[in-house]
Amino acid sequence: MDSISSFALLSPHSAADAVALLTTNPQAKLIAGGTDLMPNLRHGIGTPEQLIDLGGIAELGRIEHTGQGWLLGAGVTLAQLATRADVRVELPVLAQAAATVAGPGHRSVATLGGNLCLDTRCIFYNQSEWWRESNNFCLKRGGDVCHVAPQGKRCHAAWSGDLAPALIALGASIDILGPTGSRRLPLNDFYVDDGAKPLTLAVGELITAVRIPEPTSGMRCGYRKARIRGAIDFPLAGVAACLVGTQDGLTELRVALTGTNSRPFLLTGPEALCQQPVTPELLAALGKLVQKQVSPMRTTGTSAAYRRQVASVLAQRLLRELVEL
Ligand SMILES: Cc1cc2nc3c(=O)[nH]c(=O)nc-3n(C[C@H](O)[C@H](O)[C@H](O)COP(=O)(O)OP(=O)(O)OC[C@H]3O[C@@H](n4cnc5c(N)ncnc54)[C@H](O)[C@@H]3O)c2cc1C
Ligand code: SF4
Repeated sequence: MDSISSFALLSPHSAADAVALLTTNPQAKLIAGGTDLMPNLRHGIGTPEQLIDLGGIAELGRIEHTGQGWLLGAGVTLAQLATRADVRVELPVLAQAAATVAGPGHRSVATLGGNLCLDTRCIFYNQSEWWRESNNFCLKRGGDVCHVAPQGKRCHAAWSGDLAPALIALGASIDILGPTGSRRLPLNDFYVDDGAKPLTLAVGELITAVRIPEPTSGMRCGYRKARIRGAIDFPLAGVAACLVGTQDGLTELRVALTGTNSRPFLLTGPEALCQQPVTPELLAALGKLVQKQVSPMRTTGTSAAYRRQVASVLAQRLLRELVEL
């Protein structure tokens, strides 16, 4: 890895102070666990003169569970989400997704906010600077051609975070704080399908918390992902699902995906599969819905066709497993 260019580390003690620092230094980068940001900086992807460390902001570490649902601070670590007994029992889909992120060392410092805001990934981009330079860089940074879709004008780098689909399937929203105050947004509306800029954060804004409504009584949820190395790897495709019902018919079904598009997203149309027996034909229909809405490109070492197929199969298996629970 290359060395990182020098920077000043700023250490605010409140989210409001972090916003003020970010507003006066718009080129600065927020750093939480640093497990996504630091490897990127080592690859020369960005040379910020200031890093704003969120690690000293106590309010970002909150975990609250009331009758209305959950509030999780952006600074909660993935290790906490993967191991806390209450999260594992009440929000198994979130605990399962958190447990699949990177390795135990990463999870002990990696945060919820960092996971929701990590950069998109591409085999032509997550490389050292000299490697990218020898390929004339690319559209996302430093160049004018996308090596994945050379005729196109947009970046197709893949969203590869594991937590967003779990939270989207749970119907979560996020609290965002910025120079003009705070706002709340459904998590599914936070992302756009643009590999170069998938987040809709304005200058000076940061995520302070995630809110998850209390799951419907009897709801069963789960997360499954395909990856190259089972012990530690980003998703080639990941599927989260939440459902209410039995083999004889579902009354609610939400499915969200990651790893295949430039954004995580809620699958459109699975409600048409409710109120009828869960048969092999219904599973196949879900698989088709997934195949139509994912759009993997040649951004990983694994073929786009495989990622499309594996997303579809994961969704079908997950639905079958949840119904049989
Ligand atoms: C070997 C390896 C394997 C990995 N495998 C996976 C994987 O399987 N799945 C996966 O999802 N990720 C994976 N990651 C990426 C990363 O470890 C996780 O996504 C992690 O959760 C990022 O959180 P962080 O706190 O370390 O983020 P940071 O690196 O600190 O930040 C990531 C980005 O989010 C921004 N940011 C951080 N907090 C906030 C906030 N509150 N508001 C707004 N912006 C914010 C930062 O400015 C930065 O741009 C892997 C990384 C490595 C090195
Ligand atoms: S998809 Fe294209 S523009 Fe985006 S990172 Fe990959 S090569 Fe670069």
